[in-house]
Amino acid sequence: NDAMTSRNKVRETLRLFQVICRKLLQEEESKLKGEGKTHKRVDCQAAKILKEKGKYVNTGKQIIGPVPGVEVGDEFQYFIELNIVGLHRPSQGGIDYVKQGDRIVATSIIASGGYEDDLDNSDVLSYMGQGGNVMQKGKQPEDQKLERGNLALANSRFVKNPVRVIRGETRSSDLSEGRGKTYVYDGLYLVEEFKQEPGPHGKLVYKFKLVRIPGQPELAWKVVKKSKVREGLCAHDISQGKEIIPICAINTIDSEKPPPFVYVPQMIYPDWCRPIPSKGCDCINGCSESGKCSCVMKNGGEIPYNHNGAIVEAKPLVYECGPTCKCPASCYNRVSQHGLKFQLEIFKTESRGWGVRSLNSIPSGSFICEYAGELLEDREAEERKGNDEYLFDIGNNCSDSSLWDDLSTLMPDAHSSFHEVVQDSGFTIDAARCGNIGRFINHSCSPNLYAQNVLYDHEDKRIPHIMLFAAENIPPLQELTYHYNYMIDQVRDENGGIKKKICYCGSSECTGRMY
Ligand code: SAM
Repeated sequence: NDAMTSRNKVRETLRLFQVICRKLLQEEESKLKGEGKTHKRVDCQAAKILKEKGKYVNTGKQIIGPVPGVEVGDEFQYFIELNIVGLHRPSQGGIDYVKQGDRIVATSIIASGGYEDDLDNSDVLSYMGQGGNVMQKGKQPEDQKLERGNLALANSRFVKNPVRVIRGETRSSDLSEGRGKTYVYDGLYLVEEFKQEPGPHGKLVYKFKLVRIPGQPELAWKVVKKSKVREGLCAHDISQGKEIIPICAINTIDSEKPPPFVYVPQMIYPDWCRPIPSKGCDCINGCSESGKCSCVMKNGGEIPYNHNGAIVEAKPLVYECGPTCKCPASCYNRVSQHGLKFQLEIFKTESRGWGVRSLNSIPSGSFICEYAGELLEDREAEERKGNDEYLFDIGNNCSDSSLWDDLSTLMPDAHSSFHEVVQDSGFTIDAARCGNIGRFINHSCSPNLYAQNVLYDHEDKRIPHIMLFAAENIPPLQELTYHYNYMIDQVRDENGGIKKKICYCGSSECTGRMY
């Protein structure tokens, strides 16, 4: 199926781009030794690597209308990502166009602002043309001309071809700090009219009125913004104040309330198990200097996180600094121990019980939450077979190896420990009776999160914390999922019979069974 392959291609390419960016940023940040901000454009470097290896998608002539593999609502952290997937080609310039017959027509525009504030009317976009030095400081403004992008948009008014609109939004989340903007693909619009009018500098500018073609998915931010009281709200905070950010429950499907369980934000260790506290590092002036920090050394000489808190790449085990380290809480090597960063909620799904989603945009690499619960030995977990819905088998998490293969060919110099194996540790986390938000995250055959082993408050490698991280940019309200990694025909019931469970993840790559 073509649509499925293009979607996968786009997602894989963007993931690869994001990992390369984070690795380049990591190199830059370690050179700066924690002082100052990097000014190197890691996005351009990463794009160059992809381009040289022929990894761009939808190359060739600019496409009019939908771009294969890109969906309405998709989010991008860097402008250049739009180019990589063929959504918008110019590396600057707000209007992309193509020659059609003997004239040029617009294919896509970048809109920053210009939308009606009135949400009922937000399908209408008022877009100012380009040129005339209106945006440039220190240059004499002049009348905008009906040429290039402006001419293309004017022609599109008569040709009535669909124009892709990408919204550039300023965002204030941690991970986008300094980057300023995030880009959201808003869908297809038609140019309805245009006129010339005096612009902000007194010179003439072109104003285009674009209207969104009906029948396209509504953008999540609009859904969130529209309703003050969320429809289907049935619990204000399932954590009962135990998390830094309240977690509400939404049910628009039926009248079921969230199930009863004891909310614990952290792991519960049984009495017989006293994890050995870790020794901790002696860094007082930050842990960035490799060769000195014992925690950084355990991570192979690098901090596994960027300074904005994004995890660089999946690893068998990540060592964060912990309670016995001398570094401050703000140390870059402490991320997942700080708890929730996004406004998460549980919601009733059609076919998978409750699930989890976020009201905020989540940048690739962000920490989401821990999978917390009671620690059990595998044989105890065996005894809970009748009630195995909330078990997480430690040591059974492995992530996308094709991404790693790509990465190692594209960046052969960057050492990566991905393929070291984590052996099955003999321990399981049970979140049936006691658990946190992690217990509500469903399985998907095409997930947007992955589980990462992390140690910070003890040294026992058999029982790392299971921390979930975003594997890609995730728009608001998209369900958060990870791969449960069950082996088909290997899950058994109390009597040793093979158990089967149908998967309802709904993704195009669904294998049909969870186990
Ligand atoms: N949906 C659960 C709930 O309502 O509490 C939260 C996830 S819980 C850890 C795991 C259970 O959710 C599974 O045993 C199964 O019943 C359901 N589930 C998760 N992912 C699923 C999927 N892709 N298809 C069908 N059921 C799923």
